[in-house]
Amino acid sequence: MITIKDLHKSYKTGNNSLHVLKGINFNVSEGELVSIMGSSGSGKSTLLNILGMLDEADTGSYTLDGVAIKNLNEKIAARYRNKFLGFIFQSFNLINYKSALDNVALPLYYQGMKRGERMDRAKAYLEKVGLAQWMDHLPNQLSGGQKQRVAIARALASDPKVLLADEPTGALDTKTSYEVMDLIQQINDEGRTILIVTHEPDIAQMTKRIVNLKDGLIIDDTKVNQVRALQNV
Ligand code: ATP
Ligand code: MG
Repeated sequence: MITIKDLHKSYKTGNNSLHVLKGINFNVSEGELVSIMGSSGSGKSTLLNILGMLDEADTGSYTLDGVAIKNLNEKIAARYRNKFLGFIFQSFNLINYKSALDNVALPLYYQGMKRGERMDRAKAYLEKVGLAQWMDHLPNQLSGGQKQRVAIARALASDPKVLLADEPTGALDTKTSYEVMDLIQQINDEGRTILIVTHEPDIAQMTKRIVNLKDGLIIDDTKVNQVRALQNV
């Protein structure tokens, strides 16, 4: 599903250049649930943003579902991003003045889906994440866990091949984190490929594989015996 070869990324600020990714090699197959760990500043978000086509590497290659992601023009890149990738963020990134339903439906509008179809689909995904009763609520009328469920429904509604989550439980208490991880495990059980950046070792144990970044390189890549999230609640 994902193949990355010798990926390098530097950030330039003024006369300084910070070499963040120093030759990353990495493959992810369909159906994997991978966590990316590493200390603050090790380049986890940088890597995830490149995988998510929100940023570009300086050198190296990235192939996503058989498509070489390089020198794609912006319009085509945006289409691939919408088709292949879903995002979940630590801070949910919901629109505060729109209901849960409209938050989930909005990306479908930008993809050109007709109103009836996008509302049906948004409802179906909110039901899937357990928010049938909360569709008309605004984000500030929802708990952190519920907000993250809205964000997950929004990410899934476009039926992406890969879900990318940057610290999806970072703003949640332990119990709520595990409930969100249970949902992520269920989505992965259905066959969806998922990558999660996390600081928390117990969250990483709920995935199937842990990749450790240090000083711009992968220093460890290990399969784990997945702990089911609800065992912990
Ligand atoms: P954290 O765990 O704190 O989220 P991270 O592993 O996700 O850290 P990155 O956000 O990938 O780390 O950042 C890696 C390094 O690159 C950091 O030193 C950061 O300051 C720097 N960096 C990140 N984004 C930029 C940018 N847009 N411009 C310049 N430097 C950046
Ligand atoms: Mg980060």
